[in-house]
Amino acid sequence: MYKITSNLVHVQEIANAGRGVLAKQPIPTGTLLLESDGPAAHVVHWQYRKEVCAQCFRYNLGRTLPVKHASTGKVFCSPECQSAWMSEQGELAIEAWEKLYGFVALKANTIVQDHVFATVCARPDAIEIEAAWSKGDKTVGQMRQQQTASSKKKSHPLVSSQNIDPDILGFLLSGLLLQHHNPNAWEAEMLPLAADPTPYTSNRDLEAHVNSYIQLAAILPHLTTDHHLTSNICRTLISTANHNAFGLRSADGDEYLGYGVYPSASYFNHSCSPNISKQRVGAMWEFRAARDIAVGEQCCITYLGGDEKHLTVLARRARLESIWGFECACPRCLEEDRVGGQ
Ligand SMILES: [Zn+2]
Ligand SMILES: [Zn+2]
Repeated sequence: MYKITSNLVHVQEIANAGRGVLAKQPIPTGTLLLESDGPAAHVVHWQYRKEVCAQCFRYNLGRTLPVKHASTGKVFCSPECQSAWMSEQGELAIEAWEKLYGFVALKANTIVQDHVFATVCARPDAIEIEAAWSKGDKTVGQMRQQQTASSKKKSHPLVSSQNIDPDILGFLLSGLLLQHHNPNAWEAEMLPLAADPTPYTSNRDLEAHVNSYIQLAAILPHLTTDHHLTSNICRTLISTANHNAFGLRSADGDEYLGYGVYPSASYFNHSCSPNISKQRVGAMWEFRAARDIAVGEQCCITYLGGDEKHLTVLARRARLESIWGFECACPRCLEEDRVGGQ
């Protein structure tokens, strides 16, 4: 089930750190260790919807891309990318993206994304999370009864009154479609990923996620009926994304275009002095040795996106603790502890 096939490294359980990647032989600087697959679930942020290719994530300094798929609203850098996207997605997925696009267009004046920026004051705990999702399930259950009782296409009153967040909707739909297309990949790749049991930054954030589930169930009733759209699947997507997502940034790093979950790339642990560098090439990631690596050494990337270079040990630990929930004990942190670094 481990997807790293390079004969240079292997994936192994590591004391107190889950899985990790270890060097099987000396690895010289610059060696390519892994090319990931495309993302299992991802989203291009709403504000970049006209500027980032839906297939290869190309972004050209904020220019609107030339090819647009009218019924789904997806944009592409070339007709080739559009055809590749269409054949990879398939009919059912394209229809689902069309429904989502129509829904978002209809409710464009209710787009609210301020929950994303909520300061971390009251993170909902496991009990609150459970309660919110079971309320969501109850609403979806009622909707299904109404849908079967009448063939009239009337929106549930709750859905009409809710705000929407296209980023959450798009991310969840991309993951739901993976689960639908390829349940084996879902089982083998998504379920084993480290999951955050309390991934919501605030009650508003929790509510925005549960509402997105209800809205998807309202616009995609067939996926709900055949159990490809369940609260469990949504919750798995949200809690794995919190610990495994890679940010999709523009080449200069200034624009945060979206994020994706890359199961084959999530075996690398974190170090504040990483020996592996990662670079996005289109929709994939390449992982290379950033320096010579000895046999048995753990291969680590940084989760801090380069910021680790300038941050103190206290600042690094605080950020890693708040986002990923662990206290960093990498060699650099331990060394800075020893010499009394601040
Ligand atoms: Zn493209
Ligand atoms: Zn560290």
